[in-house]
Amino acid sequence: MPYEELSEKLETPPKQEIPKEQQDKPLFEEKDIKSPDFKFVPGNHLWKQQGYYIVCYGCELEHAVWLGPDKLMVGVNDKGPIIKTRKELGMV
Ligand SMILES: [Zn+2]
Repeated sequence: MPYEELSEKLETPPKQEIPKEQQDKPLFEEKDIKSPDFKFVPGNHLWKQQGYYIVCYGCELEHAVWLGPDKLMVGVNDKGPIIKTRKELGMV
């Protein structure tokens, strides 16, 4: 057998082609836990005092902060609600 012919026969067979859809599909679905489906983004809070709480109606998700009986929300600035104690307001 001539050398060329022999080397051709010894050549490894071509790798079986993997179908395209199988190549692209990962074995398991990777879930990016850093970007969950729901993201709470605090936006423009709209605080309103309601009893012992201040409740925000501005966000998609309503949230509230406990104030307690001796604190009152007197206004809002760019940092958030302005809370004063009844003592500070001279109410006690
Ligand atoms: Zn809010």
